[in-house]
Amino acid sequence: MPNLDSNIEFLKGVGPQRADTLKTELGVFTCRDLLFHFPFRYIDRTKFHRIRDVHNEGETVQLRGTLRRLETLGEGKAKRLVGTLRDETGIMELVWFRSVQWLEKSLSVGKEYIVFGRVSEFNGKFNIPHPEMEEANPDNALKAKNFDPVYPTTDKLTQKGLDAKGLRKLIRTLLDGLSASDLPETLPDYLGAQFRLMPRWQALNNIHFPETQAELDAATRRLKFEELFFLQLRLLQVRTRRKDTMRGFVFSRIGNFFNQFYQEKLAFELTGAQKRVLKEIRADVASGKHMNRLVQGDVGSGKTVVALMTMLMALDNGHQACMMAPTEILAQQHFEGITALVGDLGVNVGYLSGSVKGKKREAILAQLASGEMHIVLGTHALIEDWVQFKNLGISVIDEQHRFGVEQRAKLWAKNPGGPPHVLVMTATPIPRTLAMTLYGDLDVSVIDELPPGRKPITTMHKTEHHRLRVQGFMREEIAKGRQVYVVYPMIEETEKIDLQNLMSGFEALSRDFPAPEYQISIVHGKMKSGDKDFEMQRFIKKETQIMVATTVIEVGVNVPNASVMVIENSERFGLSQLHQLRGRVGRGADQSYCILMTGHKLSHEGRERIQTMVQTTDGFVIAETDLRLRGPGNIEGTQQSGMLRFLLADLARDGQILAAAREIAAQILEKDPSLAMPEHLRLRQHLASEGKDARVWSRIS
Ligand code: ADP
Ligand code: MG
Repeated sequence: MPNLDSNIEFLKGVGPQRADTLKTELGVFTCRDLLFHFPFRYIDRTKFHRIRDVHNEGETVQLRGTLRRLETLGEGKAKRLVGTLRDETGIMELVWFRSVQWLEKSLSVGKEYIVFGRVSEFNGKFNIPHPEMEEANPDNALKAKNFDPVYPTTDKLTQKGLDAKGLRKLIRTLLDGLSASDLPETLPDYLGAQFRLMPRWQALNNIHFPETQAELDAATRRLKFEELFFLQLRLLQVRTRRKDTMRGFVFSRIGNFFNQFYQEKLAFELTGAQKRVLKEIRADVASGKHMNRLVQGDVGSGKTVVALMTMLMALDNGHQACMMAPTEILAQQHFEGITALVGDLGVNVGYLSGSVKGKKREAILAQLASGEMHIVLGTHALIEDWVQFKNLGISVIDEQHRFGVEQRAKLWAKNPGGPPHVLVMTATPIPRTLAMTLYGDLDVSVIDELPPGRKPITTMHKTEHHRLRVQGFMREEIAKGRQVYVVYPMIEETEKIDLQNLMSGFEALSRDFPAPEYQISIVHGKMKSGDKDFEMQRFIKKETQIMVATTVIEVGVNVPNASVMVIENSERFGLSQLHQLRGRVGRGADQSYCILMTGHKLSHEGRERIQTMVQTTDGFVIAETDLRLRGPGNIEGTQQSGMLRFLLADLARDGQILAAAREIAAQILEKDPSLAMPEHLRLRQHLASEGKDARVWSRIS
């Protein structure tokens, strides 16, 4: 009998050819890999159906009855074997189109069978094509089978006899050859007791071959807990180690820049949430440890001023600061916003992007290298090798979901004196479970309060019927001096059609809102960045009343006078995108509106998205709904993350298990940072052996 680490080839029933296919198709190289190839569903074979109760086509049923009739009908291609099964309640027709001769010989009329298959309907009558047949006997009469596991498989595997059933057989063979000592417990006994977790050996058996639903549930829970717990333990270990070993610049003083700004320049009172987050940041940067903090705050919650005040802390301690945005428009807006905010404070603020060239660029680079420039705002250009700082103390990354983890790391390496503190800002609220995983190694602050005086945005759902009224409404708002966005979807693959839609929408609007009374800006991704900026600027300066755009305006753009957001084909946008777009209005003191235009027909999910938008403006509620509707892999900004590939855990549904796992992992590390205590031996061993079991983890690290 091979052991768990043996090549899968040596498992009975595999051999070199099947082994090759298992490797290429499923990534199953060893017996252990196969053991962790879990079923994706189960067929409940603990129950028998009565024929009378079969009402639905497509239903999978298990019947027990006597075979009454069996005959071959038709010729050639239409040749088929037809049987009749009878139980106490009725009769059911069984049909086979393949292996007719062999079946006719092996089945006997008059015998009792257990029949399993999927019901279909033909000419108004139910039948079961190609049912599985098993002779009834005292053993299987009451409870024929338990749950049949169904495994993910592929065409190539099926051709090699490894369909769901074939895989089932292999895994049965594998488990029969193993004993409890092959799969030792990984969790301390006290954890198992505290969370009432099934032992590991039992769980791995039951996940494949459960006898009852309760067993399956307990096995699933145990293995999900294990998966999430070890991930959290690892993430928190990374965080603990970084904090313990990585030195950070100490910003010990709060000096003139900060104080003068706060007392003389800041035109409003900070919200309680802004103050709290600044305190959290202040504690980090004064601690001597390296800060790596994520600030989540809904659109309009006032992250910019928090970023600026953090950068001023760096300046007060003789350091430079940079802030990076994902697009040129945004970076430019930060530059202008921050230049205006600091006023005559004596801070030298610069701007750098790919489009800043020649002498201008050279001058900025020289000032960054000499330390003359205090704060630089910019795009990705800031992480290019040719940018060198004299003494960068902090990097702020705005809208981080557009930046990968690697880019974050690059920013750390920029500095001769050591890694700058990192503050990541995101306006895409991330569900708690995702944040704990994706940013599990970061500290998280939340600005969960909007500046006072904002009226909640009124959101309405409208269809083509209401177009005239929507236009009338736009005119009214424009007459009051407000501005309007009209946004069209622009999704890469269908670009051409989308561009056409956008252009014809623009033309229609130009007819309905004619010049010179009305002026319209247009911005889309296909435009040159100079033209884009020009059009944006016209809108920002109120020279145009309507801005027709694609989602390029999605993030961060701030025009407080805009009060209406019309989103065309809004059913095509994801929830977080809709939320981002809506966040472009409601930035001033006026009542703002978001109008979601859709076609008449909406998918179930589309309708739920629109309804969610109409019902709530809370970004976290929206993020949770998005996670539930689309699953974690599709949430904005997480697509590339291998972190979210779990064997069993589902972040949309397992929030409670995750929270418990993270909390207990944190407690353990607090008490025993290096897991040196005897009761944590298993944890240490399992972490060390990881990459054997946890294929997930080995794939990402
Ligand atoms: P976001 O979090 O979306 O980046 P911004 O930083 O752009 O939000 O802030 C949105 C608007 O709110 C800006 O005009 C900003 O000046 C204003 N603002 C920020 N904080 C406050 C506050 N505490 N009181 C009043 N207005 C504020
Ligand atoms: Mg912002």
